[in-house]
Amino acid sequence: MMEKKYVAEPFRIKAVEPLKMLTRAEREEKIQAAKYNLFNLAGEDCYIDLLTDSGTNAMSQDQWAGIMRGDEAYAGSSSYYKLMDAGKDIFGYGFIQPVHQGRAAEKVLLPLFLSEGKFAISNMFFDTTRAHVILAGARPIDCVVEEAKDPKVRAKFKGNMDVRKLEETINEKGIENVGLVVMTITNNSAGGQPVSMENLRAVSEICKKYDLPMCIDAARFAENAHFIKRDEDGYQDKEIKEIIREMFSYGDMFTMSAKKDAILNIGGLLGIKDGDSPLVLDVKANCISYEGFFTYGGLAGRDLEAMAIGLYEGIEENYLEYRIGQMEYLAARLDEAGIAYQSPVGGHGVFIDAADMFPDIPYYEFPAQTLCIELYKEAGIRTCDIGSYMLGNDPDTNEQLKADFEFSRLAIPRRVYTQAHLDIMADALIAIKERASDVKKGYRITWEPPILRHFQAHLEPIE
Ligand SMILES: *Cc1c(COP(=O)(O)O)cnc(C)c1O
Repeated sequence: MMEKKYVAEPFRIKAVEPLKMLTRAEREEKIQAAKYNLFNLAGEDCYIDLLTDSGTNAMSQDQWAGIMRGDEAYAGSSSYYKLMDAGKDIFGYGFIQPVHQGRAAEKVLLPLFLSEGKFAISNMFFDTTRAHVILAGARPIDCVVEEAKDPKVRAKFKGNMDVRKLEETINEKGIENVGLVVMTITNNSAGGQPVSMENLRAVSEICKKYDLPMCIDAARFAENAHFIKRDEDGYQDKEIKEIIREMFSYGDMFTMSAKKDAILNIGGLLGIKDGDSPLVLDVKANCISYEGFFTYGGLAGRDLEAMAIGLYEGIEENYLEYRIGQMEYLAARLDEAGIAYQSPVGGHGVFIDAADMFPDIPYYEFPAQTLCIELYKEAGIRTCDIGSYMLGNDPDTNEQLKADFEFSRLAIPRRVYTQAHLDIMADALIAIKERASDVKKGYRITWEPPILRHFQAHLEPIE
């Protein structure tokens, strides 16, 4: 196999953050005290923190300078107008609403379309989006393409919606009962897998045919645009911004966690294509109730300023090549070692197929959570279960659901870790793989909250 060359950083380092290294015995103690839930660990006890790529990014000198320039006016701050201009320019939408993070956009927007008895259909809902569909009284349905469900199938655009299934589901549930169609780009829960322009176009046509609103869950819009440019016919010579404009032209609105591709530590956006739509007034009203006045949306003026700058840095082509290059480098090392992951590698992390690593552990003993715990014990690496443990229980029957995948996600923060860190990740996974046949039992939950349980649940090893 050809060795994958690491794409060098298009920046150099100006400020450093020291890391603490614990011994294996100390790590074993810490994870037990955390009730085997990695969210309960102190950040400083994690040598390499890959829990999420959300809000864990390194801001640039320009963003930090923007923090000082942030205008803290309660209403109409200059930072708000700067952000509005950036949002309109990049996405081509008429109205842009800042919110404090992605789930806030969901809380503001989803109840305007969803209520008891309604369905929301997505290529695949992210966990907070799924939760907000349920909190609005509706039910979420995923219609991702079949190839997404087999981590070994190396297909392009595995994040796509299965458009035939979408249309069947609309007709089966009744058009009047479908409140919203959501396209998650990239498809986070399927492994950061991209969605093609062709698929966005096809879904938009179905939405128009049935007069259904289409919302883009846009957390990783820039990474998605990079994949379209790299892999979809006819886009190689287009600018990333042109591609983004076309992607968003197919939706009516978007919700976005700016903690991802806007390279921030906190922030979110909501966009409405038609700036004159009555929906804008409803969004502003909900925002004032839940988030704050609509010109700051639960953020400080300095955050709005940093977001306006980060939105542009996140769509730079050099940056995106380096960024996706990190995933490709790590994936190539796993290929060499025969470690299965959602392939080809997606945008924001490497999703290890824990069901393949630990074939003896059934879904209800959480193989992916088991691998996350092993990675922490092995090398102090903190990762996240994207499998049955995260999926939780059926809201109607309370039975443990079986996820389509059992992934342990190594989410890579933006502009934070180096090639040597990536090698430590690969070496740790290789060491675990070598002793994987000794790991025959997983974990059981001893306490869980009713919704989004994986953040808080307590676990214990099954003896
Ligand atoms: C992170 C994320 C969200 C939620 O955003 P927060 O900023 O964490 O509230 C929603 N959808 C997707 C696809 C995400 O990745």
